[in-house]
Amino acid sequence: MRRAYVVSIVGTFEYFLRELAGATLPSIQSSLGFGCARILELASTSSGRKMSELAFQALKGQHYREVFWYNLGRMALLYFMPLLLLTVFFQIEYRRLLRESLRAHLEVIAEHQAKTFDLFLLERAVNLENLIDDPLFPGLEVDEPFLGSLLEDLRLTSDAFVDLGVVSGSGDLVAYVGPVNFPSLVSYENEEWFIDLLAGDRSSIITEIYLGFRDQPHFTIAVRRQGDGGVQVLRSTLSPERLADYLTTLEGAGEVHSAIVNGSGVLQVTTPQVGEPLGVSSFVPPQDTERGFVPGGRGSDAPGYAFAWLGETPWAFIVTSAGSQPGLGVTALPRTISVFTVAIFVLMGFLILFRARKLAERQLASEKHEAELSGQLVQAAKLASVGELAAGIAHEINNPLAIIAEEVGVMQDALDPELIEEDDEPLDVPEHLEAIHEAVFRCRDITRKLLTFVRQAEVKVEPHLIREILDEVLEVMLGNELALSNVEVVRRYDYSIPEILTDRNQLIQVFLNLVKNAMDAMPGGGTLTLTTVRKGERAAISIRDTGCGMTPDQMERVFVPFFTTKDPGKGTGLGLSVSYSIIQSFGGAFYVASAPGEGSTFTVELPLVVS
Ligand code: ADP
Repeated sequence: MRRAYVVSIVGTFEYFLRELAGATLPSIQSSLGFGCARILELASTSSGRKMSELAFQALKGQHYREVFWYNLGRMALLYFMPLLLLTVFFQIEYRRLLRESLRAHLEVIAEHQAKTFDLFLLERAVNLENLIDDPLFPGLEVDEPFLGSLLEDLRLTSDAFVDLGVVSGSGDLVAYVGPVNFPSLVSYENEEWFIDLLAGDRSSIITEIYLGFRDQPHFTIAVRRQGDGGVQVLRSTLSPERLADYLTTLEGAGEVHSAIVNGSGVLQVTTPQVGEPLGVSSFVPPQDTERGFVPGGRGSDAPGYAFAWLGETPWAFIVTSAGSQPGLGVTALPRTISVFTVAIFVLMGFLILFRARKLAERQLASEKHEAELSGQLVQAAKLASVGELAAGIAHEINNPLAIIAEEVGVMQDALDPELIEEDDEPLDVPEHLEAIHEAVFRCRDITRKLLTFVRQAEVKVEPHLIREILDEVLEVMLGNELALSNVEVVRRYDYSIPEILTDRNQLIQVFLNLVKNAMDAMPGGGTLTLTTVRKGERAAISIRDTGCGMTPDQMERVFVPFFTTKDPGKGTGLGLSVSYSIIQSFGGAFYVASAPGEGSTFTVELPLVVS
């Protein structure tokens, strides 16, 4: 019975140790230190990875699109912008060149057509001159049949001739053949062209288009000669329609719209696309230049036009492009360029999309890796704390174990027949059992707390009072060490700070590290002051020691991973860097104030997120 009792006590203790470390019974029995090592091993298996996996999931969900769009925007700027600028530049240059070549082309056509038309008019005048200068020409005595035969000959050279008439020096129309039935013979005495012809040096004249006696738009072409009986004038009418037809036969006519205007812009010879004869054109070419180009108004519909003045008459040839803006058969080129450019842009777009996706994936993978590393770092720091705690825990557990061993020894002695003496007082079994019971439950408390710290890996956000977490660190985690040290603990808690939503385990890790550091900084003892105050929407927790303090150089580096001034095996340099990242992840702040020989104050600020 006594043996069964002791076995059951040891069994209970074994159970807690197994809970603590997940280790086998013989290994626990072999040494407590090994049991603690198993704790570290167990804790390191899954928690870090789980945390980083969670972090990665969150990153992937919220972050992927952000990273993707960022990369897409960056690459679009990087690749599209130069291409776009180049395209715009080439478009502008191309259009400029096109405009210039069009302009030159129109000018050449205008000049060419003007010359040809000039020649045409000259030929018509020569046709008439040939008739009147012929010694067989009867002059004012001409009869109509003869005049008719002359007109027929004339029309063989050009169908622009409509009629033929002979006018005396006094302006009377003495003979006429043609489509007009004049009521009586008319007099040209006061007609401008007649006056000009008689007054001028030239032997021929071509009028501008006018209505005249027949009340129809027409041109008059007339030649004069000095005959025996005075001045004789041979006149004919040129048909505006035939002249317009002639325009369409000129070189380049298919590419352009041509018209002839006088110095005031009145249309003389024109095609229906440009306007009606006698209509007023918007093209009034400058008179001081023989030929040239007048650009179209910017933003207006008025196209640019080339012009060339004629030599025979004070008229100008006006030539505009018959095509759309670029015209002249080169319109297909920009379309090809546009299609090509769009194709390149689409291709680039796909490439950029593909690259942005790849980059986003690569970035997420690297962030995942970083998260894993940081998860492992947190875990490593936690395990380092646990390792540092192990000695204290072993000591803590040793005491109840010693009590159990002692109580069991007393009971063994009391029950050993060889050692029992008559005057021995009867053994108070319940009292001893009670002592053992208490010792066992103390062990269980310690191991349970440690287990919660080590095993709880996933982030568990729940309402907690900060002061309770601080107390747990001071009493449960480091109670024994503090009791043995010469450190006085002063707590200045602000009891108005409500429960905040936080992960208890990670906060324990932060405070445990701060208190341990403070204790390490005061090997000969000192005062450890824990203060909590409410600062607006935050709670500030300060841990102040009166220890060795830090130089400015050390202070700068305390949050750098693996920075430690402690002996190898005592410090890892991970505690503060990991604590910093934990507090950052809570949206809090972490800072330090210290001076050599004057102690240090570490302050953690946490947002007051209450449930
Ligand atoms: P470790 O404690 O393993 O060295 P930490 O990151 O917790 O790693 O601390 C890094 C270093 O910061 C310590 O080695 C020590 O030099 C310095 N330090 C931390 N806390 C204090 C303190 N309260 N007083 C003086 N120095 C400190």
